[in-house]
Amino acid sequence: MTHDNIAWGYSGSIGPEHWAGLCHEYRTCGEGTEQSPVNITGYAPSHARPIAFSYGGAATASRNNGRTVYLDYGPGNTIDVGGRSYQLQGIHYHSPAEHMLDGESFVAELHLVHQDAGGNLAVVGLLFRSGGPSPIIQGLIDAAPDIGATIDLGHGLAVSACVPGVLDYYSYDGSLTTPPCTEGIRWIVMQSVGTVSQAQVDRLQELVGGPNNRPVQPIGGRQIYAVSR
Ligand SMILES: [Zn+2]
Repeated sequence: MTHDNIAWGYSGSIGPEHWAGLCHEYRTCGEGTEQSPVNITGYAPSHARPIAFSYGGAATASRNNGRTVYLDYGPGNTIDVGGRSYQLQGIHYHSPAEHMLDGESFVAELHLVHQDAGGNLAVVGLLFRSGGPSPIIQGLIDAAPDIGATIDLGHGLAVSACVPGVLDYYSYDGSLTTPPCTEGIRWIVMQSVGTVSQAQVDRLQELVGGPNNRPVQPIGGRQIYAVSR
């Protein structure tokens, strides 16, 4: 999902405002009209397309590429939304968070990346505000290797721990939040917001050498839905 061969980052001359100019493949980061993340606001209520999680697996490996830490999952973890089934590929984080809710900023965000049989991506976003420590985030921190390293995990973070008790969510059409900023991504941002401690936030950023969030992008003509049961 990312082009590791062409250097990009989160600050200075390779930061988000420069991504589109770094190479031709990244031009969508600047020219795209349905980019992510966004400030989630002005949403329309909907009772269509409830989401179902069928998660049973644990992470098999963790990787730190210096921009985030990925937890990889094997087959067998799926979500069903809108009559379509998507398989979990992996989890990674951003800190500070990328999406905003009604103008509120958050300190961390998990992205659960899924793909259907046709190659279409659906990403579930979980937002965290400052508060008590998060067991999920701690599981990720405990599994995280140093920059450039990969470690195999026997029984890494159980992905079922990531499913909130309330399955209401916001939905809109957007993009990858990293180069090449490919559009056509179904975004599902859960309405339930978790908490994470300041020590955990500090560690998340330390793991990758600093903040790793893309700023919010214009919503343009897109409609955001608030889907509840
Ligand atoms: Zn992400």
